[in-house]
Amino acid sequence: MKTTAGNSIVIAPIGDFDPQLLTEVGSQIHRVFRCAPQVGPILADVSFAFDAGREQYHSTLILQRLAEAAPPGALKVLALTDVDLFIPILTHVYGEAQLGGTACIVSTYRLNSGAGTRHFTETGARRVVKEAIHELGHTFNLRHCPEAACIMHYCRSEADVDRKSNDLCRYCRVMLNDELKR
Ligand SMILES: [Zn+2]
Ligand SMILES: [Zn+2]
Repeated sequence: MKTTAGNSIVIAPIGDFDPQLLTEVGSQIHRVFRCAPQVGPILADVSFAFDAGREQYHSTLILQRLAEAAPPGALKVLALTDVDLFIPILTHVYGEAQLGGTACIVSTYRLNSGAGTRHFTETGARRVVKEAIHELGHTFNLRHCPEAACIMHYCRSEADVDRKSNDLCRYCRVMLNDELKR
């Protein structure tokens, strides 16, 4: 994977991730966003975001640190983690993104049935890839889409994730193309 200064999307695994999964995430990023993906760890650990009461990690705090620590030349940063993420209004989230911002994160915890970061089931890998594209879409200003097959559709369950496609609907594609031209 090559990098072009100023327009690379950095895939930042937190911990030791299956290289095959990282390659698949990278190739799907390239397909959808036409930006060169690059793998490079940014945060080694997210214990600062641990909430002892909930025994989960507050994803918004992780996004702030990621954005601060983003390497120069990184257009977007996508972190991958296996810890269970939450935002205060929800019991859990598969991921979170800064809308129109730099950083987003996806957790494999629920999407890969708690199987960790070294081994992905086929279904687990497919879900992680979809949610990675979904969260990156938010960083490019895309909002949730009512079209159930669109990758920007908001999913409440793993079954919802399995139902949606790997692609943006035509409407979201037009929005993304406008954003990419800016
Ligand atoms: Zn979303
Ligand atoms: Zn859509």
